[in-house]
Amino acid sequence: MECIFCNITERKAEAEILFEDENIIAFLDIQPVNYGHTLVIPKKHFDNFLTVPHDELSKLMNATQFIAGAVKRSLNADGFNIISNNGDSAGQTVYHFHFHIIPRFNSDFTLKPKVKMYPTGEMKKYADHIRSLISKYRDIYNG
Ligand code: 5GP
Ligand code: ZN
Repeated sequence: MECIFCNITERKAEAEILFEDENIIAFLDIQPVNYGHTLVIPKKHFDNFLTVPHDELSKLMNATQFIAGAVKRSLNADGFNIISNNGDSAGQTVYHFHFHIIPRFNSDFTLKPKVKMYPTGEMKKYADHIRSLISKYRDIYNG
């Protein structure tokens, strides 16, 4: 299966690589939302957030925190967004899991989806529904 991010990891495709170690690699997004927009990926291929094993995710999180600090400081950014799109409906286009680090500057643009209001009583129904699935799978979380 052809994967552009695997190709970048294996140096079969070019990228502006910022950092790598044995587990992760960070490089500039080719279509940045702001200049300096960075992607951090595990070197191993996992489709999305739900399929990344815990140890890999933890290494990826640590690296993302480190790189986000470097991106923010080097660009003198006011803040940053950490985003992960999962699934077509969420805007995922590359099915090799990654975090986006988007440097942000005061008043650069708004990134706020239109929010909804729950009709009366619906909020609890949604919570109950999700809670019932959480309790069903709780053992997985507890390990
Ligand atoms: P997603 O839409 O899956 O959350 O994010 C995929 C990101 O990968 C997009 O922001 C896109 O611009 C970036 N991207 C896609 N192909 C390439 C590429 O060949 N090189 C680099 N550096 N970034 C890419
Ligand atoms: Zn891949």
